[in-house]
Amino acid sequence: MTSPAAQATTCDDAAGQPLVVVTATAPTPNGPLHVGHLAGPFIAADVAARAARARGMRTLTVSGLDPHQNYVRTKAASQGREVTEVLDEYEGLVRQALGAARISYDIFNDPRADRDYRDRVGLVLDELVARGRVVTERTTLTRCGSCGTTLHHAYVSGDCTRCGLASSGGTCEACGAFTSAENLGSARCARCGGSPEPFSADIPLLRLESWRAVLAECWSGAVLPARVRSLIGHYLACGLPDVPLAYPTDWGIPAGGELNRVDVWVEMGLGLITGIGRRLDPAAGGLDQCAAAWQQVGEWWHFLGIDNAFYFAILFPGLFAAAGIDPSRLGGLVVNEFYQLDGLKFSTSRGHAVWAHEFLAQEDPATVRMYVCWDRPDRFESGFTQAVYAEFRNWIGAALAGGGTLPPGLAAAEARRAGHALEFGTFDPGLALRCLLAAGPGRVPAVLAALTGDDTAP
Ligand SMILES: [Zn+2]
Ligand SMILES: [Zn+2]
Repeated sequence: MTSPAAQATTCDDAAGQPLVVVTATAPTPNGPLHVGHLAGPFIAADVAARAARARGMRTLTVSGLDPHQNYVRTKAASQGREVTEVLDEYEGLVRQALGAARISYDIFNDPRADRDYRDRVGLVLDELVARGRVVTERTTLTRCGSCGTTLHHAYVSGDCTRCGLASSGGTCEACGAFTSAENLGSARCARCGGSPEPFSADIPLLRLESWRAVLAECWSGAVLPARVRSLIGHYLACGLPDVPLAYPTDWGIPAGGELNRVDVWVEMGLGLITGIGRRLDPAAGGLDQCAAAWQQVGEWWHFLGIDNAFYFAILFPGLFAAAGIDPSRLGGLVVNEFYQLDGLKFSTSRGHAVWAHEFLAQEDPATVRMYVCWDRPDRFESGFTQAVYAEFRNWIGAALAGGGTLPPGLAAAEARRAGHALEFGTFDPGLALRCLLAAGPGRVPAVLAALTGDDTAP
């Protein structure tokens, strides 16, 4: 997927300008990408980066693969396959889908293939510990009383204490809160159903509370959607959590203590710090050199789903601060809601999906890219159906050639978007008017009345 050689000059195209870094959350290869992923961060980040380049901005695009999620292990176990076999298959399909969607990156992290990446992440974590930027403490963690598994991420399930809905460890899909075996209600082992029991381990911890002031400065300047600000407000009110950076488990990069492995999201954050640092200064190795290289970055924009909000809005700015990088470089987060398929969330685990590599093998990638931009779940959970996509495909060619009336499925979707465009948090009356005109004004009389101020309009 990565084409570093082909794109190595990207950063130099507008030499002397501050660099704009555009990142998209590295996908977990526990399944192929689906159309919901395309409609979420990936095509949006690619469109934004291409547009920034066209405006003459100096850009660096970054994503990668995320094989150290333990969801990969649970997928392999559920299929009765070796984990390397599962990764070989799905990493290949992820690359295939991104390539078919015309998406490429200046840096594409590949933790399994790239020994240097793994070494850098481990060394930087150990340096954070050695220099006292994070504390190492005897900490109470949780394991399964039956099978002994350390309960984290895919290995634990329970109830989110913020919103009450079912969640795994890591973050809550519904509300974005930080979840762990220690704070989930009714936590249990997701592998065997066993009950949790406490155990002690020496682990490195990032005490986010100790970075409150610098984080507040970052948040005050960054462009963040309302749901992310609400999540931040929750932690400002109830206290920012201590986040384990590494702990004893069976998957991930060994570092941060003799028996520990790096938390996979911490790995992604450290991978961005060191990978971008090394790209900007090939001699950069340690924390100070990476931080110095990051001085070239004027703004960092990240594209993500709402379920990753805690990591990119709270954890990563804290990690960056600990690493000596001013987190106020975060220009903002471009956050999408979930995309639905026939009225239900796309789900890799349940196989409720239109797989991106299969879809793109049959469809014109330009049409797919325009469709997921047009129907993007940027402010509400919009939804994909094959029938409306087919309408779009048949209509867009004629429309681009000089006109065309919207068919009924597309008009209905425009009418829905017109209504959402007048909600407070995502208020955009110009968009509402454009959608209204496309849908036909009679379809959404409430929007027409609000825009015109004429309650008597038909
Ligand atoms: Zn268990
Ligand atoms: Zn929740």
